[in-house]
Amino acid sequence: MPVKKKAAPAKPAKKPAAKAAPKAAAKKAAPAPSKPAPRKASRAAGDMFRGFTPYPLKKGEPYMNDAQRAHFREILRGWKRELMEEVDRTVHHMQDEAANFPDPNDRATQESEFSLELRTRDRERKLIKKIDEALGNLDANDYGYCETCGVEIGIRRLEARPTATQCIDCKQLDEIREKQMGG
Ligand SMILES: [Zn+2]
Repeated sequence: MPVKKKAAPAKPAKKPAAKAAPKAAAKKAAPAPSKPAPRKASRAAGDMFRGFTPYPLKKGEPYMNDAQRAHFREILRGWKRELMEEVDRTVHHMQDEAANFPDPNDRATQESEFSLELRTRDRERKLIKKIDEALGNLDANDYGYCETCGVEIGIRRLEARPTATQCIDCKQLDEIREKQMGG
């Protein structure tokens, strides 16, 4: 068995501003598994960004006023920053490990792990592109409206999916159509 030496304990991952429960801190010190666990590159940093406080919507407030647009600009930028850090970590992780597997079996494992990470990175890149487009729409005063029917997408839906370009109805119609085409 090749003895793999870990240079140092994993550096503490930078956490996105999060409301960590106080007791979660105690758990963090759990001993690392003896086998290098496949890193959870797909840990869904991408799927959703939670580092924000929901917008305190006031009654009768105009849709996509300055405050709301500032709110979404912050969400989009924070999300993008998080994704870019994740891409960085993936690249470094792959570089660190690249020379580490002299054994062919280990190499096979490593290769499948790499292809997973590459897919993850690809997904993150695409998301970053969508975020950039959303930021562009914000600047153009065009953010938050359905590109298909023109209605307001809605603050809460946008908070759940800041890159949404369609209202929920058009989105669902499209999905049904896609399913029919695909089936
Ligand atoms: Zn629509």
